[in-house]
Amino acid sequence: MSDVTSTPAPEPAAPLDFIRQIVSEDLKAGRHGRRVHTRFPPEPNGYLHIGHAKSICLNFGVASEFGGLCNLRLDDTNPTKEDVEYVDSIRTDVRWLGFDWDTREFYASDYFEQIYECALALIRRGLAYVDDLTAEQIREYRGTLTQPGRNSPFRDRPVEENVSLFERMRAGEFPDGSHVLRARIDMASPNMNMRDPTLFRIRHAHHHRTGDRWCIYPMYDFAHALSDAIEGITHSLCTLEFEDHRPLYNWIIEQFPDLPGDPQQIEFARLNLTYTVMSKRKLLELVEKGFVSGWDDPRMPTISGMRRRGYTPRAIRDFCARIGVAKNESLIDVALLEHSVREDLNRVAPRAMAVLKPLKVVIENYPEGQVEMLEAINNPEDESAGTRQVPFSREIYIEQDDFREVPPKKFFRLFPGNEVRLRYAYIIKCVSVLKNEAGEVVELRCTYDPDTRGGAAGEQRRVKGTLHWVSAPHAVRAEVRLYDRLFTTEQPGTDDARHFTEELNPNALEVLSDALVEPSLATLTAGVTCQFERLGYFCADPDGTPDRPVFNRTVTLRDSWAKIEKANG
Ligand code: ATP
Ligand code: MG
Repeated sequence: MSDVTSTPAPEPAAPLDFIRQIVSEDLKAGRHGRRVHTRFPPEPNGYLHIGHAKSICLNFGVASEFGGLCNLRLDDTNPTKEDVEYVDSIRTDVRWLGFDWDTREFYASDYFEQIYECALALIRRGLAYVDDLTAEQIREYRGTLTQPGRNSPFRDRPVEENVSLFERMRAGEFPDGSHVLRARIDMASPNMNMRDPTLFRIRHAHHHRTGDRWCIYPMYDFAHALSDAIEGITHSLCTLEFEDHRPLYNWIIEQFPDLPGDPQQIEFARLNLTYTVMSKRKLLELVEKGFVSGWDDPRMPTISGMRRRGYTPRAIRDFCARIGVAKNESLIDVALLEHSVREDLNRVAPRAMAVLKPLKVVIENYPEGQVEMLEAINNPEDESAGTRQVPFSREIYIEQDDFREVPPKKFFRLFPGNEVRLRYAYIIKCVSVLKNEAGEVVELRCTYDPDTRGGAAGEQRRVKGTLHWVSAPHAVRAEVRLYDRLFTTEQPGTDDARHFTEELNPNALEVLSDALVEPSLATLTAGVTCQFERLGYFCADPDGTPDRPVFNRTVTLRDSWAKIEKANG
């Protein structure tokens, strides 16, 4: 039983990561009114992926470990790219991962009026102005990392003129791009984000929640900081690319001391995985151009894709716990994620027998028409899973790969004259081979030893090879979808010389339409994952019917991560 891993010893209490250390010290020092309140703030412009899972586990995890709360906040400030389909999928995925935001489901768009009022307040204090420069001019005026920016000619507009223009922007009097509202901070700041960043822009676009009520929309940095402050967030955890935005975040928060929260932004490294792209723009392109069947294609690194493939929430949470959080960028081996999936499935997945590429075997000395029900163990890792009855008869199927007419060295499976055990059944011996006109093996003739009946209780006579099989008259024909990595390169999308879709693995999906599965698998509920003995873990797909079940291979049994770990001692 090579796939059995022993139960790991209980792990010592892990040392706190740098974020949990900060939170713990803040609590001790009585900061933020001794509260911990985080949020997970996705933009509903795509489905969540495994990178988001890291952020979800962190935000909800920190909140629950320190007796705090975590909000789900839909950061919906960009009407042209967002959709309710995405909102719904985000809610489903976060819940499926095992987290609960109770009634705290918030939308940045719920705060549009308040954010607008904040902008007006900044204008009145001389801290924001309406700029008529074009987007291109604004870029030009902004300067570079080595050169300070120049003030816009509109920077010193009188307050009343700014108020009036901003109100007219809201009233829809101006076309897209004709004006923006900018913070009035410092065009010479060494930090580009502080060079009078845009706070509001004009977008005559329908919003999935606010409809046509607004034609001006707040920029991400402004809306995000204010949403945090409005919700009383204490620790605003985000990925490293926002480090340079922190001075602006703090500047915005400082302007509104009367809002409930005085949040502190803390950045951590995003998750990067080998053989995987995680940019939503790229994932959207894969969906839109038909490279995959949808956001939930089992090859996708999305939560919905992983769910359909048979990954479990516990495996994903376990993976997130193993990778931890740190401040430096790193690339995680996707084999570690698969390792977490195997570990969990090994514990919980019921075993069953299926033959992916069938080869017919007739047992010549087994009585015609006889059927025996044999007892099979459902999960050797879990006694409470019990046993089931598997039918055995004169005609069975085994895996084509389990037979060789001319066996290579150390081949312990079936070949002419050799004996193997059929799992939970008898020892059989191959006596002859039938071929078609093309010379291909189409059927084996075998004999069985009636004194070797196996079963859950164990087996008397032993031989070196054990094969899985299905009974021909009882087996159900199934479609099995085998998945390989979606990309052939370790870091797809990092080669400037080619478009990332050129790195797609053309063999990432192989469909076997003539697989045969034991009868108990025909009615497996979609989403349930089994171990097909000796083959791997397979999840029933919603495309299947009882007449024609469909299975996705979740992972094989070979654990390349465990091998790497062993090699590294
Ligand atoms: P993309 O740039 O691909 O659109 P995003 O970061 O803009 O992704 P959001 O919906 O804004 O997507 O992300 C919601 C939250 O998830 C943010 O706090 C973001 O930092 C976090 N997040 C996104 N990708 C990752 C990742 N790979 N690892 C960890 N956290 C991530
Ligand atoms: Mg984002």
